[in-house]
Amino acid sequence: MREIFLLKLGEIVLKGANKRQFEDKLRQNVRRRVKAYGNFDVYLMQSTVYVEPMDDDADVDGAWDACHTIFGLVRLCRCRACEKDIDKIYDTIEEYLGDDLDCAATFKVESKRSDKRFPLNSIEISQEIGGRLAEAHPNCKVDVRKPEYTVYVEVRDLAAYVHGPAEAGAGGLPTGVGGRAMCLLSGGIDSPVAAYMMAKRGVEVECVHFFSYPYTSQLAKDKVMELARLVTRYCGRMTVNIVGFTQIQEAIRDNCPEEFFTLIMRRFMMEISQRIGKEDGCGALITGENLGQVASQTMQAMQVTGAVVDIPVFMPLIGMDKEEIVTIARKIGTMETSVLPYEDCCTVFTPKHPKTKPTIGQLINAERKLDREALIAQALETVEKITVKYDDAPYL
Ligand code: ATP
Ligand code: MG
Repeated sequence: MREIFLLKLGEIVLKGANKRQFEDKLRQNVRRRVKAYGNFDVYLMQSTVYVEPMDDDADVDGAWDACHTIFGLVRLCRCRACEKDIDKIYDTIEEYLGDDLDCAATFKVESKRSDKRFPLNSIEISQEIGGRLAEAHPNCKVDVRKPEYTVYVEVRDLAAYVHGPAEAGAGGLPTGVGGRAMCLLSGGIDSPVAAYMMAKRGVEVECVHFFSYPYTSQLAKDKVMELARLVTRYCGRMTVNIVGFTQIQEAIRDNCPEEFFTLIMRRFMMEISQRIGKEDGCGALITGENLGQVASQTMQAMQVTGAVVDIPVFMPLIGMDKEEIVTIARKIGTMETSVLPYEDCCTVFTPKHPKTKPTIGQLINAERKLDREALIAQALETVEKITVKYDDAPYL
């Protein structure tokens, strides 16, 4: 018998009328994700996604790793299936988990019988199997309170499944059930984490990056593409829009008061991102902003940058400490790339004394010499759309 994965659903079991749609999406996401590792059958029953390798060539370890990054799953169990017969269940446990039991000092058996036609109930299954295992492994004692190792038996519709302790899934909601949003992706630590966090809430993420060649280098662009690729490990394949920002930055430098440079630039970024996003069906923007972190991240600054758009702006990091953000960046594997020293366009023409409490009136005045519409139209002409997926070659 081959191994099989039972992937347990999280919050989505609670979602009432939408449950069906959520489950379909999750099944599709799992199917798409494990396909790269061979021929797997993926089906959903009893609030569980089953992933079953269909031949011996399937890369079961690769698929198992990939399942840890799929949103909507809380617990992952790597099992062996067997016939619904108490002797077969016992033999399968011996063969599959016997070595683990020999390494533990104490154990218990936890059973769940969802097929009520099985002659023993859950407690009886645990007692029967626990008794036999205790006899066969005299060095491993039963301890039902705080066991070192737990053997799980699940008697379900199609078969019985045995496994050791479950592993944690990625949590969240299946990517795609929460609509689509455009993430403003820079080369920093924060925005990749912001993209990850919204994908975790079921949002399908698309990215936009503003690029000021020759003020910023090709390496800076590659760094952002690499960050996008790393995030696709969780978000699934995504589109990155690269927008030429040089002319806008030069126009700002030549025509606007220095203290407003960053704010004016960010207003252009927001407006252009919304235009590209709306064309692609995005209902919100995502940024990595964090209250108080830099001068452009005060309430007043966010008001003037948010004023140029009419869709919601999600800022999932707004109330977090840098330490908390860094912990997530490390976990999702973006940190090392984020700290590479290639400059982002935000660091070109930064004002010495940026305005921290701006008003909309001041911004409109500061921008009066600019032909906003023409500058935006020109930037939109430069958009390059690149599709990124995790198994692409690294960009750096
Ligand atoms: P990050 O670590 O994400 O770069 P930050 O702390 O450096 O954030 P800012 O430079 O003020 O903050 O940028 C705030 C947000 O604006 C970023 O999180 C990102 O969403 C967006 N942003 C900044 N620069 C760019 C860029 N070149 N292209 C696209 N979005 C950008
Ligand atoms: Mg930045």
